[in-house]
Formats: sequence, C-alpha cells, structure tokens
Amino acid sequence: MEHQLPEIFDSFSEARRNGFLQMKALKDNGKKVAGTFCTYTPLELFDAAGMATVGLCSTSDETIPDAETVLPRNLCPLIKSSYGFAITNKCPYMYFSDLVVGETTCDGKKKMYEYLGEIKNTHVMQLPQNQEDEISKELWYQEIIRLKERIESDFEVIITNEDLENSIKRKNKERRLLKGIYETSMNFPPPITGLEQLKILFGTQFKFNEEEKIKELENTLEKLTTINNTNSSNISLDSKRIVITGCPMGGVTEKIVDIIEQQGGIVVAYENCTGAKKVENFVEENTEDPFRAVSEAYLNIGCSVMTPDDKRYVLLQDLVHRFKADAVIEMTLQACHTYAIETNQVKRICDSINIPFLTVETDYSTSDIAQLTTRIGAFLEII
Ligand code: SF4
Ligand code: SF4
Repeated sequence: MEHQLPEIFDSFSEARRNGFLQMKALKDNGKKVAGTFCTYTPLELFDAAGMATVGLCSTSDETIPDAETVLPRNLCPLIKSSYGFAITNKCPYMYFSDLVVGETTCDGKKKMYEYLGEIKNTHVMQLPQNQEDEISKELWYQEIIRLKERIESDFEVIITNEDLENSIKRKNKERRLLKGIYETSMNFPPPITGLEQLKILFGTQFKFNEEEKIKELENTLEKLTTINNTNSSNISLDSKRIVITGCPMGGVTEKIVDIIEQQGGIVVAYENCTGAKKVENFVEENTEDPFRAVSEAYLNIGCSVMTPDDKRYVLLQDLVHRFKADAVIEMTLQACHTYAIETNQVKRICDSINIPFLTVETDYSTSDIAQLTTRIGAFLEII
C-alpha cells in the first residue's frame, strides 16, 4: 500500500533517533532520566520529580547474540534484545538512564532485571498478578509509595501531592490527544495507515520536550480530523479493517503491519502496549490521594501477566466494536508463554462475537517475512 505519510508525521518516525540529541541536551542541563520497560511503570511519579522518562524495550535483533552469552536462547526476543543493548552500551537511552525501573511482570523480564541490576541503578516494583482483590490493590499502592521514596532518596527531591496532581493532568492531556489521534481511524476509511498510526504511537515516547510534544500531537490530530472531514484519505474503503492484539510492537515487528497492509488489510487499532493499552487508563484527577489514583489506574491495565486477564479481553472487544473491525490479528513473540497461552482464550472470544481471528508468532528477525506473507494473505482473502 502506498503510504500517505505527510511531512508532519516524519518527526514521529524518526523520533527514536532524533531523541538521542534531545536527551543529551537535557542531561547536559542536569535533568535526570528514568528508563522504563513496561506499561505498568507509573510515569507521573518521574514527571512530578522533574525527571524525563524513556522506554528501553528494544525492537531490534542486533544485540541478541551478546545477550545469549548470559541469557538462554529460548527467551522472548524483547528481553534478550533489551538486555543485549544494556551490556553492549549500544543504546544511548540505556546509557543516559540514571535509574532503570522494572516490575515483576513475566518470569523472563523479572529474572533479567537481576542481571541488569549488576550494571545499572535498578529498581524493581513488585507487581501483583491480580487486579481485583484488596491485598493486590494495597500491595501495588505500597509499591507506588516505595518507588516515590526511592526517587526522592536517589535524586534528593520531594514529590508533593501537588506536583503529582499536576503531572497527572499533564499525562492525561497527552493520553486524550493520543486517543483522539487513533480514534480518527474509526472513520471509513481511516485517514492514515496502521503503519503510520504505529509510528506516531511508538515515536511519541521519544519526544522529551513536553510542550513541543503536546503541540505536535494537537497539530497531528487536527490534520487527521481534516482528512476525515474532507474525505481526502487515500485508503481504499474496501480494505479489511484489522485490530491488532498481543505483545508490544515496534521496530522490526512493524513487518506484521506492513504485510497486512500490503495484502489488502488496514490496521485500525492496537490492543497492545504500543497502542490503546498504555493510553486508555486515565488517572483520576483532583482526588484526596493522587498516589492512590495513580496506583488504581495503572493496576487496571490488561496484560497477560495478570490472572485472570479479563481487562485485556474487555478492551479487545471494545476496540473491535468501536473501530468496526472485520478481523483480529494477534502477534506473539517467540517464547512469550503468557500471551501464547492466552491465544486460545482470545480465539474463543473472537469466535463468540463472530470475528475472524489469526495468530502469528514471530521474533526480531526478518527471515519469516515470506511465510508470514503467505499466512496473512490467505487469511485476508477469506474474510
Ligand atoms: S505486555 Fe505486559 S509486561 Fe509487556 S510491557 Fe505490556 S504491560 Fe508490561
Ligand atoms: S513479550 Fe511476553 S515474554 Fe516478552 S517481555 Fe513481554 S510479556 Fe514477557
């Protein structure tokens, strides 16, 4: 499919690379940086402490052989690649991070953090595996407070309720804009391709000037709304509308979206950590205890590390309905057991609402592109 990426979107696709210089400038001015790995990390706390945050999950296979000198080969590529970038010092964002924050999510990640802790200043939050019971909620609240104390002692700052309230409002504003941007793809046809939407969602995390980021998002939303209002999208109305679900996406795994869109589909929404999962949980504003509000909103995220993981299934069905999807395609990463086990449940749900479902497993190589093209092409033909 011919992409219609207007100039304004270029800055999102290049954001990761261009962000290196921006972050160096921030560091030179004394700004502290927290590197994060997961959507459960409460970003508002760092913002309230005057820190910048950056996502460290890696999306390329470049350093996997280095990682495999320490970690087993049969491990999810995201974990191996992220650790590989840390030990080879090849990721400037890892290098710039004054504190790296992880959570006890999947087994692979939490064990990898033990090794990461040998080379980086690392803090691991104890994430409960259930979102409903009182003990889990209280544990997560206490972990939010423990993170606050760690930030305060490492960086000699105080995070007041007022600081946090302001950060909650800032981050909610960003969420509202991102949601507004991807919801323009509810239109028939959507104003942009799924690949373009992914680049915006992925690229936003590498923009470190908050004011500029908000302006750019407002600008983008306006352009997309105009494309919809003037019926000037160049996407065919016949394209099959796809909701993506599964493991986080970006970098080399964009290959899945690319294949879908080369084969006559159009990705309209992402039920994963690159997309709606990190955006749809707004933190309640103006509460008595903003730390409690942060803990409640973040514990609401649906991920396969939770048991049960009903919130994932609710969001998935919601996106299917809201975006009037024709099918769901799931991407799991090799050796990601929690998502792979949930595949069957996702299939059952799709069957129950009469939505065709395809699951594909991949890694960070490009060697499976031909095989993926055949499978995805055949699937799109029958829906
Ligand atoms: S998929 Fe789950 S563990 Fe992975 S980044 Fe998202 S919330 Fe965290
Ligand atoms: S993709 Fe799966 S195995 Fe990999 S880090 Fe995320 S939850 Fe863990």
